[in-house]
Amino acid sequence: MRTHRDQVIILKSKNYSEADKILTVFGKEFGKFSLLAKGVRRLTSKNRGNIQTLSIVDISFYKAQGIPLLLETSVVHIPDFTNFDVKNSERVLHLVSKLIPEEQKYSKVFDALRSAIQKGLIDEYTSRFRMLLLMEEGLMDNLKACSECGGMSEKRYIQLSNFVLLCENCYINKGLIEKDFMVVDSSLYSDLRFVSALDQYINNLLINIL
Ligand SMILES: [Zn+2]
Repeated sequence: MRTHRDQVIILKSKNYSEADKILTVFGKEFGKFSLLAKGVRRLTSKNRGNIQTLSIVDISFYKAQGIPLLLETSVVHIPDFTNFDVKNSERVLHLVSKLIPEEQKYSKVFDALRSAIQKGLIDEYTSRFRMLLLMEEGLMDNLKACSECGGMSEKRYIQLSNFVLLCENCYINKGLIEKDFMVVDSSLYSDLRFVSALDQYINNLLINIL
């Protein structure tokens, strides 16, 4: 038998024929892949309500030649779309579609995305998820050690133009002059200035990669 199970996050769904859709999903075990959801556009389809973007769903699917076939779905979490921040869904989906490789298990990123969705994709968790993915892909410095001296300090500062980190000492020597620094604390990730700096960082990065 070639029936598999996985927990997946629905990333994209595209109408295929009159009754079918092609889904792009990100699975905990199988990574990012596409699935054919047959008959799912019919009102009678049991899977119909379970495949909205960013829903978390347990699925079974059949894999032989060609595109895998969706069999059953069971909802784990459907986002509350009335309170969902559309901008943050776009931010997350954009980055995920560009950076997550096809058909490779990527559990750490899966767990982080699932958790961000379950927490409602508010600014803080959207920023934290985006930074985690960038760091995992080697596209952002790990923000633990000072980029100048390598030291760890309690109080740290991040430069918004390039996302490098400075310890307190190096900040006093350098950062005070350059001005575009913010203190790293729990309020940082939802700060509007920080969020738009992260948008900018990602835009520049994706232009250079592609
Ligand atoms: Zn330093």
